[in-house]
Amino acid sequence: PAGGFSPRRVLLKLSGEGLMGAQGYGLDMDVVRRLAREIKAVHEAGKELCLVIGGGNIFRGLSTAAQGMDRTSADHMGMLATVMNALAVQNFLEKEGVPTRVQSAIPMASICEPYIRRRAIRHMEKGRVVIFAAGTGNPFFTTDTAAALRAVEMNCDALLKATQVDGVYDADPKLVPTANRYDSLTFGDVLRQDLRVMDTSAIALARDNGIPILVFSLQQPGALAEVLRGAGRYTIIRE
Ligand code: UDP
Repeated sequence: PAGGFSPRRVLLKLSGEGLMGAQGYGLDMDVVRRLAREIKAVHEAGKELCLVIGGGNIFRGLSTAAQGMDRTSADHMGMLATVMNALAVQNFLEKEGVPTRVQSAIPMASICEPYIRRRAIRHMEKGRVVIFAAGTGNPFFTTDTAAALRAVEMNCDALLKATQVDGVYDADPKLVPTANRYDSLTFGDVLRQDLRVMDTSAIALARDNGIPILVFSLQQPGALAEVLRGAGRYTIIRE
């Protein structure tokens, strides 16, 4: 893509689905191990990194609410699912020798730190990867919005959104073989054309605070490092 750039501090959003591998539910530890190695590579290259992890591989509030549960309780359960994923990613990162801290938006003092903005920034400055768990801490939000919020709070230079495909297309490339892939888009394009990259509140937060979003696939080994060098395949969304 034009104007390849080299962000110094980045937030990586991993969806829960990206952690479940082929099994359709839960965590595939081989996948988590592989992701940890990808993250280690960019950490060693000197990037300041923080992660927001989803929970859709374990629990989604919206679909459970549709089955008769109160949305707020279901969303609380969804946020707890993201904590489980965060602990798994933390564990594999530490096995790779990457220092980490998990910070949860819902305090759980015996498991991880509470979210404290200044402390999170300090961790990154000291070379620790910070994993943000429990989304925003509020029901009716998503971890995509949490990712945009934390990226803004952490003064990140970019938000990297890992998906199952290598960028944003004008139709689902898994269903429509002729779908076109975009190299770059503006926030306005995404909102106007209702391209479902991240939810609207996440896009709006990134736009209002000037944080570019890079959409890419983690399927290819080395993809994360490549994207951060401004190479590889991705769609960049910016002003
Ligand atoms: N969730 C929430 N508030 C947040 C973030 C997440 O209530 O700020 C809940 C919500 O129920 C959601 C679930 O946690 O369905 C898992 O998050 P998400 O669906 O964003 O995960 P992903 O799709 O990235 O795996």
